[in-house]
Formats: sequence, structure tokens, C-alpha cells
Amino acid sequence: MTANNPEVSLVVPCHNEAENLSALYERVHTVMEKTGKSWELVCVNDGSKDDTLDQLLTLRQKDSRVVVIDLSRKFGKEAALTAGLDHARGDCVIPLDADLQDPPELIPELLAKWEEGYDVVNAVRLSRGGESWLKRASAHTFYRIINRMSDVDIPADTGDFRLLSKPVLEAIKTLPERRRFMKGLFSWVGFRTASVHYHREPRYAGKTTWNYWRLWNFAVEGITSFSQVPLQLAAHLGLFVSILAFLYAAYLIIGTIVYGNPVKGYPSMMVTLLFLGGVQLIALGVIGEYLGRIYEETKRRPVYLVRSTSQKPAKIQTKLSDSL
Ligand code: UDP
Ligand code: MG
Repeated sequence: MTANNPEVSLVVPCHNEAENLSALYERVHTVMEKTGKSWELVCVNDGSKDDTLDQLLTLRQKDSRVVVIDLSRKFGKEAALTAGLDHARGDCVIPLDADLQDPPELIPELLAKWEEGYDVVNAVRLSRGGESWLKRASAHTFYRIINRMSDVDIPADTGDFRLLSKPVLEAIKTLPERRRFMKGLFSWVGFRTASVHYHREPRYAGKTTWNYWRLWNFAVEGITSFSQVPLQLAAHLGLFVSILAFLYAAYLIIGTIVYGNPVKGYPSMMVTLLFLGGVQLIALGVIGEYLGRIYEETKRRPVYLVRSTSQKPAKIQTKLSDSL
């Protein structure tokens, strides 16, 4: 620890979390004081429409260990988390949801594992309170699919709540991609990993912004970030269908030679046409999804823009920032 660098950085992306912040601060404060470690709470305001920013600034006035990063608009959770990680100065970082679904009381356990020498400590959910059966089932299926399709082992039932040591954080910061599927990136970097378990509680207050459409897109994002299997599948499917079409053509030709050609077969023609059209559209869609990603990456836009911050970033992301 140096004079201004705390031992532990807690990073919280906040989008419309005004009702949760004071409870979050109180619980974090109580827990962190008990650990006896120096700490900071890096809160990133991700374009909130309520008075999240005011609340954060009030907290900062009360306690200068609260660091406030205000993004210039809503960039989404992954970008907000990236911003927080870029500004964290601790020897280890713990991303945390603002809605208290990730209990701060687990932090001492994470720290204990870190002190044993682990670089990454995952907080694994034993149960997911306040979430529907459908959401749990779809999450489960998602992890099974993505882990089969990709070389990176993304642990099931682990959210962003985990501990990352400084070397891991530095490694993550060097990853250049713009579209950031953080769970995947956290796993991709590897390092010595341990797990601790907890029961996930329902949201403290407010509503989740994740609906099924967004979860679906998140899943597509994750898979296209970490797997090329859909592209290969598209090619295999094309090959498979071509073979079928070839066999069918042979059957038709032989049939015509042997039995003549009584003009019928409109249904079979339509079926073939529609089937092939469908397969082609799926394959094109898959290619389009990857092409879109390449397009996004080649634009090389920053992941987020900071409007103002209460702390100088370690690495200046944008000239737009001034001081709060
Ligand atoms: N969040 C964010 N930007 C967004 C959506 C969410 O910064 O566009 C934050 C939110 O404030 C919370 C965390 O991400 O701290 C998790 O969001 P939420 O609780 O809505 O997701 P869930 O727990 O349902 O996955
Ligand atoms: Mg939540």
C-alpha cells in the first residue's frame, strides 16, 4: 500500500440506483472497517435518470473514499464496469452490483482467499433469490451452451461479483476489445482461481433493467465474443443441406428417367425452396452478427466517455473529463 493507493477497490456500476446507495455505503462501510484494510468505493454513474449522481456526491462529501465517475451518457453495465476498473487504484478490485444482490458481507471471505495467494476469487451463487424459474433455467442453459462452444471456461452462477488481484486487473486492461463481455474476459485471463459460495438475495430496492430481450442479446454477445462455433455450424449446415439437395436431385433425375415426367411436384419444390432460403438466411444472419462485431471493433471508439470525475484516472481515456 502506498500513501494514496488503497488496498481494496470496490467498483460499482450504477444506473438509477438512488434508493440503494446509502444502504450500500452503510453495509460496505461496516464490513470494510472490520477488515481493517484501507479501501475505496469507486461508483460509476451510468447515465442515471434519477438522482443517483447527487446521492453519490453527497456520499463523497461525507467520505472521501467514495470515488465518483460520471459517464457522459448511459453506456451500459459492461462499459460502466470497465470505466470503474480503469479508475480503481487498489491492490485488488471487487466489482459489486449497487442493488445489494452481491452481499458486501462476503468481502472478507474473498479477501481471505486473496491473502492465501489466489489472484481471482469467484463468488458463486448457491441460490438466486427474487429471480423467476424461467430466468434461472435460461441462465443455466446459456452457461452450458457457451462453455461447450468456447475454449474459455466461464463458470456458471458467477456474476461480476469476484475479487481480482492487481496483476489480473492489469491483464484485463490490456485486452483491446471495445465490446466487452466482462464475465468472459475475467475468465479468459486465467490466473490462480478460487471460489467462495453465497446465497443471492433479491434486489434491495428498484427494478432490474434486464428483460428477456436484453438477456437474449447479452447471450448472443457472449457467444459471439468467445466462440466461432456458430460460424462453423453455419458452414456445416450449408454442407449438410447441399448433400441433401444433391441426393434429392439425383432421386428426381433417376425418377424422371425411369418413370417419365408427369408434371407434378409443386409442393416438393416449394418445400425445398423455402428450406434452402431459410438455411441461407440463418447462415447470413450468423455471418452478419460477426461482421457487425468486426465493424464495431474497427471503429475503435472508446468504450465510455467520462463527463467528470472526482479522481484523476490512471490512464486518461478522454479529454472530456474535468473535476467534480
Ligand atoms: N447497470 C448499469 N448500467 C445498465 C444496467 C445496469 O450500470 O445499463 C448496473 C446496475 O445499476 C446494477 C448492476 O449494473 O448495479 C446490475 O444491474 P441489475 O441489478 O439491473 O441486473 P441483474 O442483477 O438483474 O442482473
Ligand atoms: Mg441486480
